[in-house]
Amino acid sequence: MSDNCLFCKIAKGDIPSKKAYEDEDFFVFHDINPAAPVHLLVIPKHHVVSMQAVQADDAQWLGRMMALAPKLAQENGCTPGHEGGFRLVINTGIEGGQEIDHLHMHIIGGPRPWDKRAAPAA
Ligand code: 5GP
Ligand code: ZN
Repeated sequence: MSDNCLFCKIAKGDIPSKKAYEDEDFFVFHDINPAAPVHLLVIPKHHVVSMQAVQADDAQWLGRMMALAPKLAQENGCTPGHEGGFRLVINTGIEGGQEIDHLHMHIIGGPRPWDKRAAPAA
C-alpha cells in the first residue's frame, strides 16, 4: 500500500469504484472514463509503480494477471470468438501515456461502431 496512491485506495475500498472482480491478489473495476463499451482496469493489490519496476521474479503474478483477461472480458460484454475480442494495454511511464502510477492493465472491448475497421464495406 502506498499512502497517496489512488489505485491502492480503490483496491482497499477506501475510494468507491464499480467492482468487476476481486481475489487475493487482484482488484478489477470499470474505468471511470471508458474508451469503449467494455473498459476494465486490472490492478495488483500490492503497489507496483509500472512495468518499468517489473523484474524476473514478478513473472508469476504478472502471468496470473494476464490469465484473468479472457474470462473477465467475456463476462463483462466483450464479444467471444474470432470476430470479437479485446485489447490489453499497459501504459508505462510518462512517454508511455501512464497517468496513474500504480501498474494497471486495461481490458478494452465490445462493439465499436465508430471504428472504421469494424464497419461493413461501403
Ligand atoms: P493510464 O492512462 O494511467 O493508463 O490509465 C488510467 C485510467 O484510470 C484512465 O483510463 C482513467 O479514466 C482511469 N481512472 C482515473 N481515475 C479513476 C478513478 O478514480 N476511478 C476509476 N474507476 N477510473 C479512474
Ligand atoms: Zn498503489
